[in-house]
Amino acid sequence: LIEEIPDRPEDLKPRPPIVVVMGHVDHGKTTLLDTIRKTNVAEKEKGGITQHIGASQVKLQDGRVITFLDTPGHEAFTSLRARGAQITDIAVLVVAADDGVMPQTVEAINHAKAFNVPIVVAVNKIDKPGADPMRVRRELSEHGLIPEEWGGDTVFVDVSAKTGQGVDQLLEMIGLVADILELKANPDKRAKGVIIETKLDRKKGPTATVIVQEGTLRVGDIFVAGITNGRVRAMFDDKGRQVKEAKPSTPVEVLGFEELPEAGDTLIVVDSEKKARDLALKLKTKREKEEKLAQGVRLEDIYKKIEAGEIKELRVIVKADTMGSLEALKKSLEDLSTEEVAVRIIHGAVGGITENDVMLAKASGAIIIGFNTRPDPKARELIEKEKVDVRMYGIIYQVIDDVKNALQGLLTPIEKEKVLGSAEVRATFKVKKVGTVAGCYVLDGKIVRGAKARLIRDGVVVYDGQIENLKRFKEDVQEVARGYECGIKLRDFNDIKVGDVIECYEIKLEQPTL
Ligand code: GDP
Repeated sequence: LIEEIPDRPEDLKPRPPIVVVMGHVDHGKTTLLDTIRKTNVAEKEKGGITQHIGASQVKLQDGRVITFLDTPGHEAFTSLRARGAQITDIAVLVVAADDGVMPQTVEAINHAKAFNVPIVVAVNKIDKPGADPMRVRRELSEHGLIPEEWGGDTVFVDVSAKTGQGVDQLLEMIGLVADILELKANPDKRAKGVIIETKLDRKKGPTATVIVQEGTLRVGDIFVAGITNGRVRAMFDDKGRQVKEAKPSTPVEVLGFEELPEAGDTLIVVDSEKKARDLALKLKTKREKEEKLAQGVRLEDIYKKIEAGEIKELRVIVKADTMGSLEALKKSLEDLSTEEVAVRIIHGAVGGITENDVMLAKASGAIIIGFNTRPDPKARELIEKEKVDVRMYGIIYQVIDDVKNALQGLLTPIEKEKVLGSAEVRATFKVKKVGTVAGCYVLDGKIVRGAKARLIRDGVVVYDGQIENLKRFKEDVQEVARGYECGIKLRDFNDIKVGDVIECYEIKLEQPTL
C-alpha cells in the first residue's frame, strides 16, 4: 500500500538501541529503571520529571544514548509484538542474586530468544548479604546464557538497583552490545514509528507515545496510525519538553490523532490526508475480517446472509468518551442482535465525531452514535451536507432503547389475520352471467365488500378468496352488520350450499417486537 523505497547503505545512520527490562517479579526491574533514569538526568532537571510517556532516553557520559521502554516485563514486549511491531533491540534480564533463576526468568529468556533479541544480564541486589552472583551465572548457563568470562557470549553485570552500584557499567555494556548490533536507520525519509502507549487527555485530546523507527517525524506531518489517522499538532519528549522533530529511536508524545490509536500499531507518515484515511479504512476492514475469522465466524457467510435477505443489519458507528463506555456500548448493542436482525458496529472508537466517521457512515449507510462526544465543526458541516443520521446520548439505556426501536423497524412485519365477521348461507341463487349468489344471515361482526373471505363447510375450509359483491335487497352496499340479511357473491366460486358459513377477514401487517 505504501511504496517502500529501499535505503542505500550510505543513507543509514547509527541510532540508539531500544531496550526492555525483563525478569521475575520483585527481582528489581522497576527499581533498576528508576535508578537508571535518575542517575542520568542532569542536575537541573531533577525533580522535574513527572512526565511519563512510556519510554525514556538516557545519555551516557560518552554521549551515547539508550532508549528504555518504561514498561518492565515481557507483557509490553509481546503485546506490542502482537501487532507485528518489533521494536526491542536488547533485553536486560534482571535476576536477583539472593533469589536466583525463577519461573518468570525462564519465561523472559524464552521470549527474548523467540524474538531474537540479545540479552544482557543484570545480576541485581548484590548489596544484599545473601547475594550469590556466581549461582545466578551457573543457573543461567543451564539455560544457554553462558557468561563471557566463562567463554560464552552473554554479558553479565553485577548491580544494585538500590544503591546504584554497577549501574553505569551496565549501561556501558548495553552500549557495547548495541555497537555490535550496528543499529542503523535512515533519518532522511518519511517517518515510521510504533505506538507504545496511548492516552485520551482532557485538554490534548487523543495522544500517543511513538517510538520513531525510521525517518524523522515532524510537527505538521500527516500520518496514518493503525485504523486512525491525523496530523502532528505538537510533540513532547520524555522530559516533557516540546520538540519540533523526532529522529529514529526517539520516543515522543504525539498530539493530533483523530482517534485514539492502539498500542502496537504503526504510525506512518504519508503525503495526503486522503491517503491517510484510505489506508486507515483498508486496515480496518482487514482487521475486522481477521477478528471474525479468529472468532470462527466467516464474515463472508454473514455478508451472504445479509445479501440473501436472511439477516438484516443495522450498521452503527460508535464514538464514546472513554474506553469503558465504548466497550460497554459495543457489547450491549451487539447483544441486541437476533436471528433476523444484527447490529453491526462497523467502527467504534474513543473520541469526538470526525469527518471520517461521517464519510464512513455515508458510504456504508450506518448511523452514528455519539456517547458523551460531539462532532467537531468540520464534521458538523458534513453531517448537514450528507444528511447522515447522527444521534447523541449521555445515558446508555437510552442508546439501547433507540437502537432497539431502529432494529424493530428492520424486522419483517408479520401478517396478522383479523376476523371481521361471519354469515350463514340460508339460500342460494343462480344468477345469469354472475354465478351463484348466497342469501346469508350475518351471525356476528360484519361482512365487508372486497374483504377476504373463506367458505367453511362442516368445519372445513373449502374456499379462500374474496367477497366480490355484497347486496342488501337490490342495493350494492359496503358492509352488512350482525343480525341482517344480505346477498354475497364470492369471487370465482359458485359451489355454495345452504348451511355453509362465510367468514370474512382481513390481513394486517404488524411490526413484531424484539
Ligand atoms: P520488580 O517487580 O521486578 O519491578 O521489582 P521492584 O523494582 O519493585 O523491586 C522489588 C523489591 O526489591 C523492592 O522492595 C525493592 O526495593 C527491592 N530491590 C530492588 N532492587 C534492589 C537492590 O538492588 N537491592 C536491594 N537490597 N533491594 C532491591
